Amino acid sequence: MLLASPRGFCAGVEKAVKALAWMVRVFEPPVYCYHEIVHNQHVVDQFRAHGVVFVDDVGQVPPGAPLMLSAHGSAPEVVQAAREGGRVVVDAVCPLVTKVHHELKVRARKGYTVLYVGHEGHEEAVGTMAVAPESVRLVQSMSEVDEAAGELEHGTAVALLTQTTLSQHEWSGIRAQAQERFPDLWMPNRSDLCFATTNRQAALEAVAGRCDAVVVVGSTNSSNTRALEQVAMASGCPRVVRVDGAAELPDDLSGTVGVTAGASAPDELVNAVVACLAPAEGVEEVHVTAEDEYFPPPPELRELLRGLVAAVQVGLAAPAAEGADTESGPLVGDRDTSAADALSRLEADHAVGRRPAADRG
Ligand code: SF4
Repeated sequence: MLLASPRGFCAGVEKAVKALAWMVRVFEPPVYCYHEIVHNQHVVDQFRAHGVVFVDDVGQVPPGAPLMLSAHGSAPEVVQAAREGGRVVVDAVCPLVTKVHHELKVRARKGYTVLYVGHEGHEEAVGTMAVAPESVRLVQSMSEVDEAAGELEHGTAVALLTQTTLSQHEWSGIRAQAQERFPDLWMPNRSDLCFATTNRQAALEAVAGRCDAVVVVGSTNSSNTRALEQVAMASGCPRVVRVDGAAELPDDLSGTVGVTAGASAPDELVNAVVACLAPAEGVEEVHVTAEDEYFPPPPELRELLRGLVAAVQVGLAAPAAEGADTESGPLVGDRDTSAADALSRLEADHAVGRRPAADRG
């Protein structure tokens, strides 16, 4: 077995999962989440079991209720509607998606027409395009770039942005076509494809050519998981299988099997797949790069937890000890806490029947 590295949870997913775990610990259920927090069935089901209600319309969330916005980024009008009605809103958008929102806003303000390479209907694409709908045009193929070139007035300033989780394969052909059709095309200095997407694809490319089959762990609605499938196929691997977990593995895999996981798939699922395949000749982990990116918790969550700590101190008539880190409060050490730890802590709380902090007074 060849195990691609990096694989699995990225910094953006770590941030979002830990933030939602905090919301569950702090509030009485239900805690609401706009869209799936990340595109992974197992993670979503775990949170459902802890009383999280996933909605596709913030209008379904009662006034005053706690509400988290997913890692994929939300349309500006959704964020505004969420904040109305006194809801306690925490936005878990990945900063790399926010960067694309910002690029689109700036280009639109400067009068550009923005060609956005993305998947129609994907939550990240929907949220990003809503930032400047009058200035953006979705392109999903080289022929759609040609159509845009035929329809836009000569001299139109054109920019090219992309969804963060596409495969290099999907992106590079469209980028080349756009550069050819629009010689003055504006693009960001660094591609919008995020580090996690490109690292996972590079790691898989390093193993796929040596494999008789590749198993990609991740859910079908995860764009970067689907991108990994494409990378494995483009590398000439004769068999590519995507599974949500070990229970979906086919029982006829043989020879050298490569294993990777999308950015929203937890390690425990990969470990279960490895255990189920039980490779007779062991596991070789193939590292292409180390990842040490860390995204701090959403500012609204930091504010919320600081307020909670302050309220408890007032209730106990116990001012913070001199020199205590009142700035970070319970989030001290967040960098060293993994999303897997946060999920295990939820399970542990549940097992001992511990109530949410907001209910303890
Ligand atoms: S895949 Fe990339 S853009 Fe998406 S959450 Fe992870 S780091 Fe952020």
